[in-house]
Amino acid sequence: MPVAPLRRVIDKLEKHYGPPLKPFPADPFQQVLWVNVAYLADDTRRAAAFKTLKRGVGLTPEKILHAPVATLRAATAFGILPDRFAKKLRECARIALDDFNGDLDAITTLPVAQAKRALRHFPGIGEPGAEQILLFSGRQPLLAPDSNGLRVLQRLGISPARKSYAAAYAAARGVTSGQLGADTPLMQRAHQLLRRHGHERCKATAPACNRCPLASTCPRTGVPS
Ligand code: SF4
Repeated sequence: MPVAPLRRVIDKLEKHYGPPLKPFPADPFQQVLWVNVAYLADDTRRAAAFKTLKRGVGLTPEKILHAPVATLRAATAFGILPDRFAKKLRECARIALDDFNGDLDAITTLPVAQAKRALRHFPGIGEPGAEQILLFSGRQPLLAPDSNGLRVLQRLGISPARKSYAAAYAAARGVTSGQLGADTPLMQRAHQLLRRHGHERCKATAPACNRCPLASTCPRTGVPS
């Protein structure tokens, strides 16, 4: 079965799930906070934690650095290890102020490799996280798939399997940039739709292929369109 072009896959997913919500948050420092505010929480609890942080403390590095740990803990308690992550929020604030003068926007204007190195100073931000920040700040057309999105790309035959996650992620970057080009809004839509599809239907175990809008073009089902 020929591999479906990624654009066609995205169109089908959008027709099925509807247009993705506006990416939130877009601000680079807020994205760092989003990652660290609730360890191992799902999206709903993470959003509640972020709201609690915003209301109780604020979202600037200055406010977070000077907030009592107990106040930060009210937000991080939506995830596990709340004390450790309250300290991580402070660490994020300290790095933002000490290393970047509180201005992470400036990082996103650097050349990509340099920007990624800078963002990886923050707790919890590896290469995929750094690319995701650049994507949702609107600065770089990188798909930055999460593990759900990467699984979908591999099952559809769009991106090859590799021995390590890092190698598979790098391969996906090359393939998706080649297919979608330098269209950042399209990359954002693709990221969100692939993530949702991997989370809701194309799960790691027992994917719901019988209810999948991509079944006709998926090599796993073997039913040509
Ligand atoms: S048909 Fe199954 S394996 Fe293929 S994309 Fe859909 S859910 Fe995933």
